[in-house]
Amino acid sequence: MEHYDLLIDRISKSAGLDRAEVERRVDEKKEKLSGLISKEGAAQIIAAELGINFEDQDLKISEIMPGMKKVNVFGKIINLFPIREFNKNGRSGKVANFIIADETGNTRVVLWDVNHIELLENETLNVGDVVEIKKAASRDNEIHLSGFSEIAKSSKELQDVQTKPVVAEQLLSEARQGQTVKSRGIVVQVFQPRFYSVCPECNKKAMNEGEVYTCAEHGAITPKDRAILNFVLDDGTETMRVVMFSDQINLLLPEEDLKDTEKAAVFRDDFFGTEVYLTGSVKRNQLFNNLEIIAQDISRVEVEALISVLESN
Ligand SMILES: [Zn+2]
Repeated sequence: MEHYDLLIDRISKSAGLDRAEVERRVDEKKEKLSGLISKEGAAQIIAAELGINFEDQDLKISEIMPGMKKVNVFGKIINLFPIREFNKNGRSGKVANFIIADETGNTRVVLWDVNHIELLENETLNVGDVVEIKKAASRDNEIHLSGFSEIAKSSKELQDVQTKPVVAEQLLSEARQGQTVKSRGIVVQVFQPRFYSVCPECNKKAMNEGEVYTCAEHGAITPKDRAILNFVLDDGTETMRVVMFSDQINLLLPEEDLKDTEKAAVFRDDFFGTEVYLTGSVKRNQLFNNLEIIAQDISRVEVEALISVLESN
């Protein structure tokens, strides 16, 4: 069932109104707001107006909305990732991730509390177990558990769970040549930046004979340097080399900084061990005959921002 249908269903049951009436109110609300919000958004407002609080109820995974602060949900663990230690600006700790699924979808669960993480370390929780999660926060299509949240193994049976990624996130072990992948992983190796010369007009690779640079289209030119930065990403299922060009490098630091040996070293040191969201296309490297990812978009998973949000809840 679509998320919207589930939502209408839930509102209709909780409020004792028939579906048609709920839908009529949603359409009316949407119209009143000049279509500025989605059907789901309008349904959420109707629910709030009727005094229905989804946050006290057990939700299906597809019903979890971004920004919910007290999510209660059951799910079967279908993927466990290695526990990671972090140390940023004097704060250190551990973070653990796994994917849970029910019959409506799947989602990533992020654990920040040592007592919760211990359940994975001592293998109380394993792949295939059903867990009950309470009072978790929903953020960026993920469920985050702080010290106030609860997680426990459940005896509930979940059949026919959705194992295909619903959020377009993909495991590197399943990445195929030609695909565009969205992954989340840890930077486990950072290479020295390399530079090449391009035409300042069209950004195409410049040809050179000695000191004389030319562009096929623009003739004799004074080239500019562009950087290439490669790193290795590990998402817990596979490691893969990632290639970044100027546009992606600039999302992390000014490309110019890589020409400064000291700044480049500081960056490499800082980037190493960082968790990132990456989008890119999977290509076969002809030289090494292995798959690599040509980055299109990259951003850091902001550990500190997540912690402060969790602490303020
Ligand atoms: Zn040119």
